[in-house]
Amino acid sequence: MTPRRRKFWGWGYEGEGLTAEELALIARLAAARLGLDELRAQNPPDISDIALRRPRVTPPAAIAAFSSAEPWDRAEHTLGKSFHDLVRGLRGEYANPPDLVAYPADENQLTAVLEWASDGRIAAIPFGGGSSVAGGIEPDVGDDYPGAVSVDMRRMGRVLEIDRASRAALIEAGALGPALEDQLRPHGLTLRHFPQSFEVSSLGGWIATRSGGHFATLHTHIDEFVEGLRVVTPRGVVETRRLPGDGAGVSADRFFIGSEGTLGVITRAWMRLQDRPRFRASASVAFASFEDAWRAAREIALSGLWPANCRLLDHDEALLSGSGDGSRSILIVTFESADHDPAPWMARAAEICRSHRGELPEAATSRSGDGAAGLWRSAFIRGGHLHDAYVRLGLVQDTFETAITWDRFPEFHEGVLEATRHAIEEQCGRGLVSCRFAYVYPDGPAPYYTVVAPGRAGAELRQWAAIKEAASDAVLRLGGTITHHHAVGRYHRRWYDRQRPDLFADALRAAKRALDPKGVMNPGVLVDP
Ligand SMILES: Cc1cc2nc3c(=O)[nH]c(=O)nc-3n(C[C@H](O)[C@H](O)[C@H](O)COP(=O)(O)OP(=O)(O)OC[C@H]3O[C@@H](n4cnc5c(N)ncnc54)[C@H](O)[C@@H]3O)c2cc1C
Repeated sequence: MTPRRRKFWGWGYEGEGLTAEELALIARLAAARLGLDELRAQNPPDISDIALRRPRVTPPAAIAAFSSAEPWDRAEHTLGKSFHDLVRGLRGEYANPPDLVAYPADENQLTAVLEWASDGRIAAIPFGGGSSVAGGIEPDVGDDYPGAVSVDMRRMGRVLEIDRASRAALIEAGALGPALEDQLRPHGLTLRHFPQSFEVSSLGGWIATRSGGHFATLHTHIDEFVEGLRVVTPRGVVETRRLPGDGAGVSADRFFIGSEGTLGVITRAWMRLQDRPRFRASASVAFASFEDAWRAAREIALSGLWPANCRLLDHDEALLSGSGDGSRSILIVTFESADHDPAPWMARAAEICRSHRGELPEAATSRSGDGAAGLWRSAFIRGGHLHDAYVRLGLVQDTFETAITWDRFPEFHEGVLEATRHAIEEQCGRGLVSCRFAYVYPDGPAPYYTVVAPGRAGAELRQWAAIKEAASDAVLRLGGTITHHHAVGRYHRRWYDRQRPDLFADALRAAKRALDPKGVMNPGVLVDP
């Protein structure tokens, strides 16, 4: 059977996506919400319309045997999935294609690629699912490099070993979300790490970007599930010891978690697993005031109840996602367990919500994700396709996410909204910026903002860049992080360089030189050699 081919532009696989009716519906809803007459969708690009620069390097036969320089493969590995990527892709602007895409099936092949890259000073870009929204996989490496190879890990995607006693598994880094879960399901186990990009993102990509997954509290990032890992660097292999906890100095695992392909290629990891949950309790609570809603979320985060989901949608976010009518903020709280009925935890969370004027009729908690929670979930799962639709409709649509401590949140939120709204108005005349909390910690939330505004044909990227700059400047100025889970990549470098202490940058550079002396691993990301 021929494997499904991933789209070279847009989200997911060929033949999949929104239907014409769904696209028309989104166009009508977006036009109504933005007060526009009509929105027309542009067709996705065809591969025959894409002119790629000729490959500049030729690999030795041993590497060519598992590599491709076909236009589809090169186009698919040129752009990630941010607004900036999607607009350029739709316009047929593929300025930085890799010269070659290598698909190593094992560490020997991978090592051969990295040695060839190091010897020829060819940029090597690790590639998992290519779902980066931070410019992490684009071979935009400047003229210092005679060529670039995208190192796609899809052929290393197996669950190699399961340790039932410790409830952990050794998993190859190229496993995409669904294939990874398919291999764990027969054992009654799950990694339970479900970023919105789950369908087309990989374990290696999650670890390399410190992705945020299913759990809104406690185990929010993939970091918490890594028990040990193995990385192939241009200097050789680093393998850490798998341990439930470790106090032996600076953590080698943490050193590679979040390294974004700049130090080497993560090839496999021992991951802590979960039993599949059997019990669930969920509620959607409406709040007339956003302030009441976030104060309730804060109290739940401080309570030690640790809900699996504690997602707050502000009025606009509830409206945009179809979970509400825009007159209320909605807090979705869910508890799950493989071991016990979480109803008492749910009852206590409901009590907290009511004490903050949350509207939750008696017995409104449910054991499944129906109601507003269900509506929000289906919009969430279709997120990748929705982004494509917005771009095809000529809208400026972007998301940015951060984290901030509670004491500074009110001022921070107001300042970020004001700066973003001002930029939207200046650039687009009108538009919306909405907010949700994807994660909440005892000491602060991780707010996630979505911008939707009308684009001017041909000027969408300039409009987007000005809004992104205003929002990112405000986030940094007011004390937040440039990213909570979307990674630094190339797009956030400017702000990351300001956020990161200078001496730490020196230390990171020195570490990179030790592992990657020729500076070929993902140049331009995180730190310059
Ligand atoms: C619609 C949509 C929804 C999203 N939702 C979420 C979300 O809920 N949570 C979240 O955290 N992120 C989300 N993202 C962002 C993105 O999916 C994550 O950053 C994800 O972790 C990237 O995984 P990937 O396998 O696609 O990595 P890629 O995009 O292929 O690569 C990302 C970075 O990791 C490096 N890398 C990849 N594999 C390896 C490896 N094996 N070894 C070393 N480096 C490697 C790359 O070089 C690059 O720098 C979303 C993106 C989209 C488009």
